[in-house]
Amino acid sequence: MIGAVDIGGTKIAVGIVDNDGNVLSRMQSPTDPDRYELGIEVIARMLRESAAKAGVALSGIGIGSTGPVDPIRGEFGDVDFLPGWRGKSPVKDLAEVFNVRVALENDGDAAALAEAGWGAGRNRTRMIYITVGTGIGGGIILDGQLYRGVDGAHPEVGHQVIDPAGPECSCGFRGCWESLAAGPAMVAWLEAHAPAAYLHRPGITAQKICELAKEGDAVALQAVEHEAHYLGLGLANLINLFTPDAIVLSGSVMKSAPLFLDRIRGVIGRGCRFVPAKKTQLTLASLGDDTNLIGAARVWHYRFGK
Ligand SMILES: [Zn+2]
Repeated sequence: MIGAVDIGGTKIAVGIVDNDGNVLSRMQSPTDPDRYELGIEVIARMLRESAAKAGVALSGIGIGSTGPVDPIRGEFGDVDFLPGWRGKSPVKDLAEVFNVRVALENDGDAAALAEAGWGAGRNRTRMIYITVGTGIGGGIILDGQLYRGVDGAHPEVGHQVIDPAGPECSCGFRGCWESLAAGPAMVAWLEAHAPAAYLHRPGITAQKICELAKEGDAVALQAVEHEAHYLGLGLANLINLFTPDAIVLSGSVMKSAPLFLDRIRGVIGRGCRFVPAKKTQLTLASLGDDTNLIGAARVWHYRFGK
């Protein structure tokens, strides 16, 4: 039984995950971006309560966290939105509290490991996991191993440049995949292009755009076409670069994947002519809203469970 900890910029989720990837209990709490020690106390309390609720003892703890982390040293990196957590070691601190082994990964890598081990990416040795929501992130599995860059760095698939004349991104470039194809980009496109009198304009969200498109709303359908085009370009780049067995798609925007898939496949078919792109399966993630939590547990199995 693994205690799973998913640390995000606004909330921390904790759960107990069994050896088949089932979540037995879960809790969550807001993240205090400045107070790391308090954060560890809150995580420890939630782990104890979740374990008690599930009636189990913890045999290890896995952590998936937003932002750059050093998975080997078990420390937070330069996490923009958690300034008080920079350089701290939740691996060391939670191991001291619970006297079990603890492993840490970036949350995109954690989710990729979960889909590769227990989800839609099972039996795929070359798999790329992509999540499209308020941002775009992911993780890369090559030959069954999590791909790590220099110093264990996590590649940032969301910051590949798709259109250098595109919107500014926090990373320093313009027209990153994330700035053109994450949920907020779909909203921005609609706000810029819908007629002034467009009825659904006030407070529109990516989810609402997808709902309207399903009902045949012409403006929403245009926004969806535009979104699918940019999703397709980023995925086509990944296929040209990695020729993976499968790309597993996840995240809130991908809950409406049927709206986008034909156009995405069209873009890939047009531009990926020198690789066997048809053999790369585009598939939907199968672990649902608990993916990050399940991923955190999978991090432990990946590190220690062999
Ligand atoms: Zn960027």
